[in-house]
Amino acid sequence: MRMILMGPPGAGKGTQADLLIEHYHIPHISTGDMFRAAIKEQTALGMKAKEYMDAGGLVPDEVTIGIVADRLAQADCQNGFLLDGFPRTAAQADALAKILSDMKIALDGVINIELGEADLLERLTGRRVCKQCGATFHTVFNAPKQQDVCDKCGGALYQRSDDTLETAQNRLKVYNTQTEPLIAYYNNQGLLKRIQGDKEIKQVFSNVLSVLE
Ligand SMILES: [Zn+2]
Repeated sequence: MRMILMGPPGAGKGTQADLLIEHYHIPHISTGDMFRAAIKEQTALGMKAKEYMDAGGLVPDEVTIGIVADRLAQADCQNGFLLDGFPRTAAQADALAKILSDMKIALDGVINIELGEADLLERLTGRRVCKQCGATFHTVFNAPKQQDVCDKCGGALYQRSDDTLETAQNRLKVYNTQTEPLIAYYNNQGLLKRIQGDKEIKQVFSNVLSVLE
């Protein structure tokens, strides 16, 4: 199974990724992990990427694409892979298509997990953290017994600044702007499979499997 997994923050992409890699016995390839591995192994491209990152800049596409190509050529990708966080742009998607065609393989599908903005915001802003012990709760999915009080130590719960409504709205806006062209790109290629993320985890997973098979 050679696939790309997409979805906005809060849609449950990470959970579905875990289930998919276990089901298909394929590696989960995220851009962050790939960069860290390439830098740790001191590959030529890894060193190049590190230069840009140390200078506080964005890693240019040709470096990123080279790192992806190196990763997909490794033995554990022979039976497939799940790409997460790459490609991010239509230009990167074109480059990926070229890498795969050079390897004489093709994508089986691109899954986009979708969820309405109100649901996403509820999920993204519900996290509460204990000031004393750091335990995390969620106002909807894992509510403390008493509002704003930690079940474990009785400490006060607070909302982290990156979980506020404004931050969450911004994250979604950035994601949508960045991803819309990519969704159109894979839709035009007939590879895009839209999955509704507003169901139980198991139901979402079984829907993903049925569109892939
Ligand atoms: Zn606590």
